[in-house]
Amino acid sequence: THFGFETVAESEKADRVAGVFTSVADSYDRMNDLMSFGYHRIWKDQFVSSLNPGFTADPNTPPQRILDVAGGTGDIAFRMLKQAHIVNRNPNTHVIMSDINPAMLGVGRQRAEALLPASQQAALSFLVADATSFSKPDGSPTVESSSIDLYTVAFGIRNFTDIPAALREAYRVLRPGGVFACLEFSKVASTDTNPAAALFDAIYKRWSFSAIPMIGQVVAGDRDSYQYLVESIERFPSQEEFRDMIVDAGFVVGGRGYENLTGGIAAIHKGMKP
Ligand code: SAM
Repeated sequence: THFGFETVAESEKADRVAGVFTSVADSYDRMNDLMSFGYHRIWKDQFVSSLNPGFTADPNTPPQRILDVAGGTGDIAFRMLKQAHIVNRNPNTHVIMSDINPAMLGVGRQRAEALLPASQQAALSFLVADATSFSKPDGSPTVESSSIDLYTVAFGIRNFTDIPAALREAYRVLRPGGVFACLEFSKVASTDTNPAAALFDAIYKRWSFSAIPMIGQVVAGDRDSYQYLVESIERFPSQEEFRDMIVDAGFVVGGRGYENLTGGIAAIHKGMKP
């Protein structure tokens, strides 16, 4: 066996052979776990707890409206609801989960029905939309200007055809004081002077460029998609370049504007609409 992947492939195959229902979300979530050694869960937890939705010192504050963009199968939206409704005991938080792909969103809906209590399901809505334009064909908006308190996008913006357009839309839909927050793969921190970081970067690159497409082949039967994934991570701007794009869209950032996770494999960027 190679790192034990055959075991996973075998159980995957057994699943299929037994005719057990496997959804897109199942293989998507399993792939995420395999490719990141489960780290994507930790990054998502950290992302959501750093935003702490639903937290309020004043019980009379108006309901919070969160727009989770490129929401996929719901990992971020569900964590947001849990943090707001359970951790912060604030049921006054609504999440709109949006994605360009109706199939992904459909799986998200099924997962919501299976995983979330009714009160949280009632606080969740779904919107099929392209993040670069929250408007209908007739030009009317699907998300009103200045209507959103918190805009989140996790592992999505990298795939957008026009990132500046998406940032402009984020700015439009957020209210003044509203927050743009992005979790995305990024660049492993500077390796010029730090041998340990250089080694980490070398191992990480080796992992991405040889292992990930192979796992994609073995587990999902789809090498090309995972090859694309790795290349899109490589093409995505650095922490500083992306921060500058957020500033160019009109947001103000605190400090250096981002936080690295796991040595920069992923990063959280935040900006506030003034
Ligand atoms: N946020 C989820 C997560 O962290 O697990 C899903 C991330 S998934 C890797 C990327 C998602 O981006 C896919 O569901 C895809 O359909 C969506 N996407 C790609 N281009 C988009 C666009 N222009 N507008 C909205 N969603 C888009």
